Amino acid sequence: MAKVAFIGLGIMGYPMARHLAKTGGHDLTVYNRTAEKAKTWVAENGGAHADTPRAAAEGADFVFTCVGNDDDLRSVTLGDTGAIAGLKSGAALIDNTTASAAVAREIAAASEAAGAGFLDAPVSGGQAGAENGQLTVMVGGDQATFDKAKPVIDSYAKMVGLMGPVGAGQLTKMVNQICIAGLVQGLSEGIHFAKKAGLDVEKVISVISKGAAQSWQMENRWKTMDEGFFDHGFAVNWMRKDLDICTAAARENGAHLPVAALVDQFYAEVQTMGGGRWDTSSLIARLERE
Ligand code: NAP
Repeated sequence: MAKVAFIGLGIMGYPMARHLAKTGGHDLTVYNRTAEKAKTWVAENGGAHADTPRAAAEGADFVFTCVGNDDDLRSVTLGDTGAIAGLKSGAALIDNTTASAAVAREIAAASEAAGAGFLDAPVSGGQAGAENGQLTVMVGGDQATFDKAKPVIDSYAKMVGLMGPVGAGQLTKMVNQICIAGLVQGLSEGIHFAKKAGLDVEKVISVISKGAAQSWQMENRWKTMDEGFFDHGFAVNWMRKDLDICTAAARENGAHLPVAALVDQFYAEVQTMGGGRWDTSSLIARLERE
């Protein structure tokens, strides 16, 4: 059993911290900006809550963060009340936020100066994966920190892979988002076309999902896309943040992302339709508006 701090009890962090306590059996101290959520978490799961990220991190062997974006990550890790100020020598800071590779390197350097290790460890699998402890975790960092942290990360994951040095986890998550963007648009167009052509969408999917067009998105989202239900957790606002990170990284490394950039604009239109909190499968709503 390890002493673990968890900072950021949102849609993802709340159940991930629960798995660290209940599945992993670790001793948890949690911090959340909106303190009420941290109190509720402790009432449900035991452990303790702290008033600052620094206080949560003090004495912990592993400190997890799962907040929104680069700036949020800086605000919970850096400065007087940030987690790094509380890190003990030999501890590991593990960031589950989807953020840039650049901020991962920045926070890694600050952790190293405090004598602690750092892993960027963004996740895939959505709200359901977090609730079920079945996330895929893409990790950047050194082998020794990874080996120490992996059994703890396993509490909320079905797959944990070390992808390379610090930043490689975030770069892998970018690949994941680039693949999803074009795929969801293709699936949206397919379902939209099937309806316009007067086909039975269920019949179409039951046949083509056994062929080369099959995908996780097709298996898990076709029905709710057809019904116009977009409440699966991973918000359009978050996807735009992620695609922004991808296109910024592509400008640096010279990769061409024409479809990801276009789909980003489609998501901007979904936002103007009031869909910022709809999930990413809502691309179809843009095609079906009158
Ligand atoms: P969320 O529900 O909006 O939760 C965000 C958490 O971060 C909340 O606990 C929030 O505190 C905290 N936070 C945000 N800004 C902060 C700041 N400046 N200082 C302190 N705390 C701050 O988000 P989520 O859906 O859990 O997503 C978290 C991360 O995982 C994001 O990077 C997202 O892209 C990624 N992700 C999400 C999913 C998904 O399906 N949702 C899937 C994969 C990856 P408050 O409670 O006070 O607001």
